[in-house]
Amino acid sequence: MNLKEKLKDKLSKEELGLLIKSFEILGEIAIIQVPEQLESKKHIIAKAVLEQHKNVKTVLRKIDKIENEFRIPKYEILIGNKTETDYKELGCRYKLDPTKVYFSEKLGHERERILNQVKNGEVIHALFAGVGPYPILIAKNRDVKIYAIEKNPVAVEYLKENVKLNKVQDKVEVFEGDVREVLPKLNVKADRVLMPLPKTGELFLDLALNYVKENGVVHYYCFGTKKDLAGIKEKIILNGKENKKEVEFLGCFSCGSFSPRVNRFCIDFKVKPKNI
Ligand code: SAM
Repeated sequence: MNLKEKLKDKLSKEELGLLIKSFEILGEIAIIQVPEQLESKKHIIAKAVLEQHKNVKTVLRKIDKIENEFRIPKYEILIGNKTETDYKELGCRYKLDPTKVYFSEKLGHERERILNQVKNGEVIHALFAGVGPYPILIAKNRDVKIYAIEKNPVAVEYLKENVKLNKVQDKVEVFEGDVREVLPKLNVKADRVLMPLPKTGELFLDLALNYVKENGVVHYYCFGTKKDLAGIKEKIILNGKENKKEVEFLGCFSCGSFSPRVNRFCIDFKVKPKNI
């Protein structure tokens, strides 16, 4: 029985029409969205989610768009009090608290898409690493060296814990701080650079271009509509020119949405040798 059917005796036809049916489940936590018009019904909706998913103990309502540097949405707790969870995805375990760090289970397929491109022996910069879903998945499945960089101190603590939980300490090195400061100090060129910071990733393109090896690959995430893509690619080309690099686009992949009209894309590009 889906959520709408479950609530058909408790909500009017009009209210059922406003219901946002999709929600995320991270271990024992369900994250739902309730439109303002259903404010008075929020606890009834949360209870229905709880009844449908026996493992769930906490129901959070996402109440705000993500606008802060650490990309953490605001939540209202509707049921329960524990906001830390243990989430399993693609053979990996992640401890995290969605009220203190960014995490989205909707990106699981995208993480798998990236993993499928990685070859043994690669050196990888996992920028904006969060609690570690990209570096840990890759390290679990490939013989690689990964530098995982994250600024949110709470996410860094979870990242370190998750690296140990998944037994990939020998492959993933964690650095706390701003990638703009950490990468130049590290001064290592990578075969692959992951940039999962779609809102402001543009500000860090120069770093990716300068710390990727010749013929290395950058996975650049951005928000926009299909129509925006040509302009975004132009900016990447321009950044390349400013940094004396040429880029070759490998593909552009839609991986979720930011709002009903704005998508998340990953643009994959190779950084080609100079003067070619
Ligand atoms: N990669 C993780 C994932 O997929 O779950 C997190 C992605 S989240 C959209 C972006 C992450 O970048 C956040 O954890 C945020 O704290 C971090 N961040 C933002 N600006 C940063 C910076 N200048 N240097 C390092 N990390 C940063």
